[in-house]
Amino acid sequence: MKIKGLAMLGIGKMGWIEKEAPKCGPLDALVRPTVVAPCTSDIHTVWEGAIGERSDMILGHEAVGEVMEVGELVKDFKKGDKVIVPAITPDWGDINSQRGFPMHSGEALGGWKFSNFKDGVFGELFHVNEADANLAILPDDIDPISAVMLTDMSTTGFHAAELAEVKLGDTVCAIGIGPVGLNAVAGANLMGASHIYAVGSRPDCARVAKEYGATEIINYKEGDIVEQVLAKTNGLGVDKVLIAGGTVDTFAQAVKMLKPGGNIGSVNYLGSGEFIKIPRIEWAVGMGHKRINAGLTPGGRHRMEKLASLVQTGKYDPSKLITHKFEGFDKMEDALLLMKDKPSDLIKPIVEIKW
Ligand code: NDP
Ligand code: ZN
Repeated sequence: MKIKGLAMLGIGKMGWIEKEAPKCGPLDALVRPTVVAPCTSDIHTVWEGAIGERSDMILGHEAVGEVMEVGELVKDFKKGDKVIVPAITPDWGDINSQRGFPMHSGEALGGWKFSNFKDGVFGELFHVNEADANLAILPDDIDPISAVMLTDMSTTGFHAAELAEVKLGDTVCAIGIGPVGLNAVAGANLMGASHIYAVGSRPDCARVAKEYGATEIINYKEGDIVEQVLAKTNGLGVDKVLIAGGTVDTFAQAVKMLKPGGNIGSVNYLGSGEFIKIPRIEWAVGMGHKRINAGLTPGGRHRMEKLASLVQTGKYDPSKLITHKFEGFDKMEDALLLMKDKPSDLIKPIVEIKW
């Protein structure tokens, strides 16, 4: 059987292809997407060649869907189940997973399989490894359109706050308030931050940042953000910096605005630049106890179930991220191109697919 999918044909090239349908191993599942969303990472992958050359690889790693087939060893899922599919689907028996870093199972970033090492979710059918460990049932009381945000945006943004170890009463600066950074704000807020300075320039993102708990917005186009943060904190700086936007040079700004003993949590995908420079003086000539912790989001079933419980209890509302809705499988291309163009009112587009 052949399936159709929206694929990276080569660096800078995207198009529809047909290829053999994936096969289901004994522990695996085959899923048909019902809601998908493009990611800024898809744009970096195709148009910036950030992960190198790929040809005829189906794109996409954010989906909820319906299980079409399960392998004979799968215990908790069956054909017809509605599921949340995390962007990161580790090999749970791998030694790096046992070390506590399932997102790096096999190799660095190895848990990120969809639209990286294998075909992604923008196909008529896609393969999920280790279904019992990598799928979560979509609860009836969560809108599938909201649930698709959990697969990557929520988990990644929250992870920035986790990486920085945000604590009760911390002052936080979140650099970047696209869909990931907005979730960094929401995560820091849920973890008990007090002042949250959110850095961005687009008004719609700024509005949602405030709804998610930002106390002040800083526009990086209106002056140096280090100066702006220091001015707002009586020259003290902040306890934690979360990075979900900017470039390799953003780390220098983060170090400069951080108090001694503070942490930087970064989930930004660095598509260019050879090195990250750390300013010596503001790093307290090497002795400032300023930590940088940067990582790929965790994935897997348990993570998705926990995020879903935050939605079910009304503590977190991912629907605020969705600004553009498309209907129909063929509209994936429009959604991805919209993400590439990033009009100022865009936070996140989704595509609903009725089969
Ligand atoms: P967006 O491009 O939508 O958002 C980027 C944000 O950074 C915007 O608020 C933008 O401001 C701001 N920004 C841009 N340049 C600067 C600058 N020089 N200084 C300060 N702020 C700046 O991206 P997403 O939110 O979709 O994703 C953020 C990053 O996370 C991406 O690199 C993405 O690839 C990565 N990612 C990482 C994952 C992980 O697991 N680690 C998973 C998923 C994504 P504005 O647009 O308002 O001007
Ligand atoms: Zn992504």
